Amino acid sequence: MKEVLLVTGSGRGIGAATALLASQRGYAVCINYRSDAGAAEALRERIVTAGGEAIAVQADVAVEADVQRLFATIDAQLGPITALVNNVGVLEKQCKLTEMSVERLHRVFTTNVISYFLCCKEAVLRMSTARGGQGGRIVNVSSGASRVGSPNVYIDYAASKGAVDTLTLGLSKEVAAEGIRVNCVRPGLIYTEIHASGGDPGRVERMAATVPMQRGGQPEEVAEAILWLLSPQSSYVSGAFIDAAGAR
Ligand code: NAP
Repeated sequence: MKEVLLVTGSGRGIGAATALLASQRGYAVCINYRSDAGAAEALRERIVTAGGEAIAVQADVAVEADVQRLFATIDAQLGPITALVNNVGVLEKQCKLTEMSVERLHRVFTTNVISYFLCCKEAVLRMSTARGGQGGRIVNVSSGASRVGSPNVYIDYAASKGAVDTLTLGLSKEVAAEGIRVNCVRPGLIYTEIHASGGDPGRVERMAATVPMQRGGQPEEVAEAILWLLSPQSSYVSGAFIDAAGAR
């Protein structure tokens, strides 16, 4: 059966590493981006040049109409979706709760939580064996922040990831008898550009000594955990959490 994978927010960082590794394992991949078309197109070209199959689709996954168009494009250009990685995530300038505006809270929760619900919904509608689908796998990318709460820097981001954890728990049980596995990867400190949006581009280097392994992680190391959860090797695993964080 042809494996068709959507990775949301995959123009760079953990999403790009996941899309690339998946293509090397034989998945036809939909790369999704919001604004950086150049990075998404470069990744698509890299995959296709290596003999893989990929499309790049612009869509703000926090917007329902965009999500519906994204899934319809996959239906038409790649065929029935068999795997989804919910990977988008944003964080904003480090501050305490008392400095957080309601606009910021809406941005963080809409992008980090609502988008995951919208994409899971479209995936389940297509994958569910109760609806004539062939089953499938979903991996949600949460964060170690959901376990520690991230006081003084971004408890909004940490709380949004707590919601992702609970979505994983509930949905995994809701669709377990419909051929769909739902799991979660919680990265720790990973070298990507997300830290710059928090106003702290050197965060991973600065905090590396606090990690039990004494180093930050690479996006490819997170991608390996995600790919295992998508693979048949994890066939009896659902509602599970892998902490890719250099020990907890
Ligand atoms: P990143 O380098 O900042 O990449 C995030 C990607 O998401 C960007 O390519 C961005 O594309 C895209 N994106 C953001 N909002 C979007 C939207 N509404 N619709 C479509 N695409 C959107 O982030 P990352 O570090 O790889 O993070 C990936 C995931 O891992 C996130 O869920 C993050 O919370 C989680 N995580 C990361 C770390 C870490 O240390 N890096 C640790 C724990 C968890 P555009 O630029 O085009 O908007």
